[in-house]
Parts: sequence; C-alpha cells; structure tokens
Amino acid sequence: MLTREQIIAREQQKLLDERERLNGALERLREALKVEVDVDAEEGDPDLVEREKNMALVNQLERKHEAVQAALRAIEKGKYGICERCGQEINPERLEVRPDATLCVRCQMEVEKFIKRGVLPRAQPERF
Ligand SMILES: [Zn+2]
Repeated sequence: MLTREQIIAREQQKLLDERERLNGALERLREALKVEVDVDAEEGDPDLVEREKNMALVNQLERKHEAVQAALRAIEKGKYGICERCGQEINPERLEVRPDATLCVRCQMEVEKFIKRGVLPRAQPERF
C-alpha cells in the first residue's frame, strides 16, 4: 500500500502531465482557430462546422485546465487529501481509489444521506 506522501506525489505528477497535455492541445486548437474562415462560408460549411467544434473543444479544455490548476494549488498549499467538510486527512486507501476525493468516507456517507433525503442537491464536481 502506498503512503499518503507517495499518493500525493503520484497525483501531482499525473496533474502536471495532464496540464502539459492540455496546454499542447489548446495551443494546437488556438492555432487552428487563427486561420481565416472564408467569408462566403455558408451555414453547414465543413470549415465552419470544424471551427465551431474546435471552439467548443477549447472551452471544454480550458475548464479542465482550470480544474487541474486548482488541484495543483491545493497540493502546493498542503490541502490536497484533506476533507473539505471536517478538515481531517482523507484515508490513503480512499485516495488511491479516488484521487479526486474531497471528502473523507464518513462525510461522503453523510452527504449522500442528505442527498437521498433531498436536503442537498446532487453535485458532481468534475475534475477531469
Ligand atoms: Zn470529513
């Protein structure tokens, strides 16, 4: 079993790799979007469709990039792997399975109870 420190180091490395991949993809897409589109392009023109797809992809990748940055900042501040609700360290076994967990098992269970009762909305924070 990995220690807490090993899990955090591994997660940080994964996030750094992911950030690099996202940066590369964003750069290529932005480059592709710089290319002038024919002003006479009609609705349904393949170039225009491609361009819209690329723009949607850029937005999506930017959101992912932001989430990766937030996770890296949490690691730097030593807040990664700390339960957002009770401030206790999240069990390393749980982190190994769910590296993006922001709640400890106990809080997670309590929150899910509230969600089942309809007290809390079901929010699924998307990190990747
Ligand atoms: Zn907790």
